[in-house]
Amino acid sequence: MLEIIRIPVLNDNYVWLAHAPDGNTAVIDPAVSMPVIQELKKRHWQLTYILNTHHHNDHTGANLELKKTTKCTIIGPKADIDRIPGIDIALVDGDHFMLGKEKAQIFDVPGHTKGHIAFYFFNSNSLFCGDTLFALGCGRVFEGTMEQMWHSLSKFKKLPRQTNVYCAHEYTQANGIFALTVEPNNIKLKLRMDEVNNKRKNQIPTVPSTLGEEFDTNPFLRPDSTEIQETLSLMDAPLSEIFAKTRYLKDNFRG
Ligand code: ZN
Ligand code: FE
Repeated sequence: MLEIIRIPVLNDNYVWLAHAPDGNTAVIDPAVSMPVIQELKKRHWQLTYILNTHHHNDHTGANLELKKTTKCTIIGPKADIDRIPGIDIALVDGDHFMLGKEKAQIFDVPGHTKGHIAFYFFNSNSLFCGDTLFALGCGRVFEGTMEQMWHSLSKFKKLPRQTNVYCAHEYTQANGIFALTVEPNNIKLKLRMDEVNNKRKNQIPTVPSTLGEEFDTNPFLRPDSTEIQETLSLMDAPLSEIFAKTRYLKDNFRG
């Protein structure tokens, strides 16, 4: 099993450390280097890998500095090989990555950016999904199409409910306020939001969540919900179209 440590950085980013029993240690999406170096030092861990989900600076900003100081190997999406600073190994859908004996399956999940991958460590029930899936939300579709983003999110629907979702931002509360506007009668969503509001009041992180919670309450994984379809006046439309409208509404939502 991996030991996973959360490092909150910048306004609302989460950088994750994943440490295998044999000593191999990866940092996922290091935005900045200092907090990562401090955490490694505190635990007497040696960085062996940087795992980048996508090219954005708040996920790769510390790549070169950490590589220089630790000689770690940088892993990222092949589709954006030219935009990942210092990349050594480029991965595509279906590839595997080994952190010691812990095996991750790679998913191509484009949409937020042209190249975006997710790392699924199945023995540790851990999904590192960058800015594709958020707790109660999903990433903005900057570089891909809505159909692409929907297809990417659909890949996660096949994974086990107990999977922990390690996304890269604490956006849950704002996401949930929007989610309630498209599915106001979802009891599980209401209960989850009570919990989220309590946590945020006390500055407690809401990440990771589980995929099961997301399946039950995240509107971007629920275009098949009758209530969402009714709210959007898109009864029985293609799921990608319902997803797209939900995403447009969120883009223009001012809570
Ligand atoms: Zn991003
Ligand atoms: Fe980001």
